[in-house]
Amino acid sequence: MTIRPYALLLSGFSLQLAHAQTPAPAPSRSVIIEALKHQPTPPPATEVPLYKTQYEAPQAAYTVPPLAPYKGPRKPIKNVIFMIGDGMGPAQVMGGLLANHGQLFMQQAQATGLSLTQNQYGKITDSAAGATAMATGHKTYNAALAIDSAGHEFRSIMHDARAHGKATGMVVGCELTDATPAAFAIVHPDRNDHEAIAAKYLSAPIDFMYAGGLQYFTQRKDQQNLLTAWQRQGYQVATTPAEAAALTGPKAVALLAPGGPKPVAERTAAYMRQGVDKALEILGRNKDGFFLMIEGSQIDDAGHFNNTTYNVQEVLDFDQQVGRAFAFAAANGETLVIVTADHETGGYSLVEGDSQAGKVVANFASNKHTAVMVPVFAYGPGSELFTGMYQNTDLYFRLKKALGWK
Ligand SMILES: [Zn+2]
Repeated sequence: MTIRPYALLLSGFSLQLAHAQTPAPAPSRSVIIEALKHQPTPPPATEVPLYKTQYEAPQAAYTVPPLAPYKGPRKPIKNVIFMIGDGMGPAQVMGGLLANHGQLFMQQAQATGLSLTQNQYGKITDSAAGATAMATGHKTYNAALAIDSAGHEFRSIMHDARAHGKATGMVVGCELTDATPAAFAIVHPDRNDHEAIAAKYLSAPIDFMYAGGLQYFTQRKDQQNLLTAWQRQGYQVATTPAEAAALTGPKAVALLAPGGPKPVAERTAAYMRQGVDKALEILGRNKDGFFLMIEGSQIDDAGHFNNTTYNVQEVLDFDQQVGRAFAFAAANGETLVIVTADHETGGYSLVEGDSQAGKVVANFASNKHTAVMVPVFAYGPGSELFTGMYQNTDLYFRLKKALGWK
């Protein structure tokens, strides 16, 4: 636990209070601030280093052209694109905006809201409980995938989508067995059982999958090759970008890295773009529409690593997928796009920012997840339902309301 000057100061005050015969009045803010000025600098923290890292872009990474909104008659929602920036709090969004010289596709949202991410016990969530909340409408314990501590199993919105004739898909920047995609696809009590989770994917209600994590499907303790099992079910399988580009569907799996895909600066720049385009191409052919989940997975990793450059690059990569989703929705008028996060990671704070220089200097207060609320951006029919401040489970209920699903 990090010891900060104000914590020392306040614990000193509370000790005084505890030992006094008559309660002393609480110190005023000016007394605290004055005392803080005279606090000695604490020794460097060991567990949670607190330091600044910075990103500077010489020129705009990309431009955000105005979006021509759909002008036709209001249509019912046929398609949903549900986008999760893992670990993307408000400061991560702002960091991306500053770094990209004052512009993001996320700014094109037609409605904005705030999601409260606490888990079943009111504590800071992990990605498993966060994704379970959004995918099933149930809060649970950390590490749980669509199940609660009493063993109640929950049906994800992907099942509902299938029941309504929709094609389903997931495009993520992590292993397919990682917590966020897994909570949308399968039920399991522990996110860390990658091989068991992989086996459950054979009965997952997902038509198109694009991720890393190949090793859990092909190099297993039980010697099974799950890719072969998938092929027997009629899935096309790809393990290279070229094979992924050739997928035609309607059922397909692309697992393009043994473990997690590399950070955006090292992976092929087109990794996410290729996945999103292929998903829209294959799922978009279904006459009753689709439900596509897209995750910018490594914004979270950058937060855990306290790395500003990595953070900014992942936010900008994710934002460009948001731009593709918004453009798709603007063109057809029957697609609802939701962009949100499961939690904030890193206690990221922008201590310097210059949108002209594209410069971000950030501090990290933690190398873990934090309790801060996260943004919701919505575009398309039904987007107005996503304004306000609400629990992460409400994303599920509002989606079902927007779609008219019981
Ligand atoms: Zn995390």
